Amino acid sequence: MRKKIIISKPYVKECKSEIFGDAVRLCANITMINPNTNKKEDKECYFEFERNCKKYLCPERSDAFVTGLLSSAMELDMDIEFEAPISERLYYQLTNYYIPIVSKSNSYYPLYNIQLFGPCDDNQIKNEKAVATGCSGGVDSFYTIAKHISEEIPDTHKLTHLICSSSSTSDSVKERIIKTFISTFYGVKEIAKDCNLKAIGCFNNLNEFYVFPYKAFNMFYTTTFSSVCFALQKLISIYYVNAGDPISKFALDLSTLPHGYDSSIFDVFTVSYINTENLSFYSTGVECIRIEREKFISDFKPAHKNLTVCAVNSFYDKTNKYKNCSLCAKDLRTMVDFYAMKKLDNFKEVFDVDNFKNHKVKLIGKMMGLNKKAYVHEMKKEAKINNVKIPLGSYFYAYLWYKPIKHLRLMLKNSKIIRKIYYKFNLDYKLNGYRSSTYDFYQGKYKNK
Ligand SMILES: [Zn+2]
Repeated sequence: MRKKIIISKPYVKECKSEIFGDAVRLCANITMINPNTNKKEDKECYFEFERNCKKYLCPERSDAFVTGLLSSAMELDMDIEFEAPISERLYYQLTNYYIPIVSKSNSYYPLYNIQLFGPCDDNQIKNEKAVATGCSGGVDSFYTIAKHISEEIPDTHKLTHLICSSSSTSDSVKERIIKTFISTFYGVKEIAKDCNLKAIGCFNNLNEFYVFPYKAFNMFYTTTFSSVCFALQKLISIYYVNAGDPISKFALDLSTLPHGYDSSIFDVFTVSYINTENLSFYSTGVECIRIEREKFISDFKPAHKNLTVCAVNSFYDKTNKYKNCSLCAKDLRTMVDFYAMKKLDNFKEVFDVDNFKNHKVKLIGKMMGLNKKAYVHEMKKEAKINNVKIPLGSYFYAYLWYKPIKHLRLMLKNSKIIRKIYYKFNLDYKLNGYRSSTYDFYQGKYKNK
């Protein structure tokens, strides 16, 4: 007999929480073999919100739990059985298209072609017609926000809410997940205030039903993220999914792509198969390349204050003067792009622009040496349009220093001894000017040995 994830009828319960104070949860009991302990467990899965969200929760449907656990079931080769109905359209689309196509296209992973068992319902759920998007504070989030509060967007599609969810965690320690969520939610509330939108926070424990270190949870995450909207089905009718890459990069098989891609690369496909009678999803930003999104937000005031692209500083770490370290590859890519469009001064509050200007030749060279060819090409094209000169010295830094370092790092990355030397002698700090996020991990690891 095939293994199953069994989802009980969802229920709502009020509780006290260290995150929200007075909170409310949409819950269901999940019976399955826990992939981390290999033992059969009966455990509560929940989506927690501030108490005032109670009227928006939808215990009549299993949609939130089926989508939330779908990638886990596909990874573990377990069917899903649910007691309360799911949206009939969702059931039809998942079983006939999403599950068979994604599993067939990612057989190397592997993801399995599983089955769903349970009742369906095609009745519409009455909701408040809210229009929402997720918010990380990055370029893609601000593009979606700036675009959907503008005059050109029809009223029915204008943004009303920003959603902050804990669903993207790669951590397994609850205290740390809570701490990160509280700080992230604080940041999202600030952005919402500046954009005249409402912010909703959702803390959930979906990660506990996935195999650690959460590969499927973090690689095939669009259905998991959509589960928060399904939990709030009595509020939201439209949700904008922030696209990572343009449509030209579309691929269903992640093994054909270079390292660093996840299922957001096929979000256009995913969103068309999670639309229901009640909720419409759109992949926003898929219509343009990154530098076009940056251009779109370059004069958007809330972004000047809040843009956070950094791969080193955590989102809204209040101990740092700037929200971005202004030295990592992601920051430099964004800063040099704004420099090329003569808009960098707009972002003085979030980037160390003075330091950039003082070390312009080297830092532009670093951006060109460390980033993908396509990004450098887009930047140079933009600089040409705006008559911004790329210093000759930057090319020397790029080709004679940063590119060789990048290649050397790729070659040596799998050597434990080299990694040990690299972190023991603080070479990450000496070469980059900032502490690598893996530093503590390696320091701790070697100390323990
Ligand atoms: Zn950074």
